[in-house]
Amino acid sequence: MARDWATLPKVELHLHLEGAAPPEFIRALAAEKGLNLGHIFAADGSYDWADFSEFLAVYEVATSVLQTPEDYTRLSEAVLRARAAEGVIYTEIFLAPQLCAADGSAWADVFAAIREGAARVPGIEARFIPIAVRHMGPDDALRVARIVADTPGASGFGLAGDERQYDVDAFAPAFALAREAGLGLTAHAGEICGPESVRATLDALSPARIGHGIAAARDPALMARLAEEGVVLEVCPGSNIALALCGSWAEHPVAALDRAGVGVTLSTDDPPYFHTSLAQEYAALNEAFGWSRKTFTRLNRLAMRAAFCDDATRTRMLERLGESA
Ligand SMILES: [Zn+2]
Repeated sequence: MARDWATLPKVELHLHLEGAAPPEFIRALAAEKGLNLGHIFAADGSYDWADFSEFLAVYEVATSVLQTPEDYTRLSEAVLRARAAEGVIYTEIFLAPQLCAADGSAWADVFAAIREGAARVPGIEARFIPIAVRHMGPDDALRVARIVADTPGASGFGLAGDERQYDVDAFAPAFALAREAGLGLTAHAGEICGPESVRATLDALSPARIGHGIAAARDPALMARLAEEGVVLEVCPGSNIALALCGSWAEHPVAALDRAGVGVTLSTDDPPYFHTSLAQEYAALNEAFGWSRKTFTRLNRLAMRAAFCDDATRTRMLERLGESA
């Protein structure tokens, strides 16, 4: 089923680098280093977790294997190869500078290593969006924004992590600095919290895109505002369902958001953790809503127009996506 969708050219804007690490990659790297990861894998080899706190715990153990710039080069190559194999032609990947230099290497070296891994994979363009981790606080976010503003090759700046922590206004200085540096802005909101979290984020940070934002579907005035302001949502249906934020594919608000004129795009967030892939998401959405190749191409073109890249890349990718009509 998912196989049928693997050949359609796709754009993915919301993917966490460590969260996209294939379990077999993590297992192999742990074996090389002689690290015992305990019981984070199920009998079928996939990541094994039952609820949100276990998901976070397994994620932390798995990513503890990534210690050197070379590990990150290999990770980013493995992640990009998996995306390219399912038809992704352009992707934007989140990574947290605070969490990815375990051996004490300079962030600039780790970031260069990640870009080097991505450049090894043909047929797919990758851009990287360093993020501040919300629950690490606004001071830390400002520090990260400063680092990112000075990082050649960073395409955007984002806010991820636990959206229940801290008033979003506290992150305004970090976003102002990143905006000043010309970075594309995106913030996770309206995933676990309600529509008020999306509204507060728009007011405080004015991001071009919102990570998830699905709670907006419960508030018609907010959907009208998102449509009017052209703020694009990075929707990750399989992630929402795996985390029990939505009961089923048929109940997922992505179709209602799209009907209301909100710009929606499709991504997988942390695909191996949620036992999903972008091709599988397309298959499930096709089944739930009857979405056709034409619908997906329309959404992919919308995603490409919302991408944090230069115009030449955008034009080239839009050509590869073809027409939606
Ligand atoms: Zn995310």
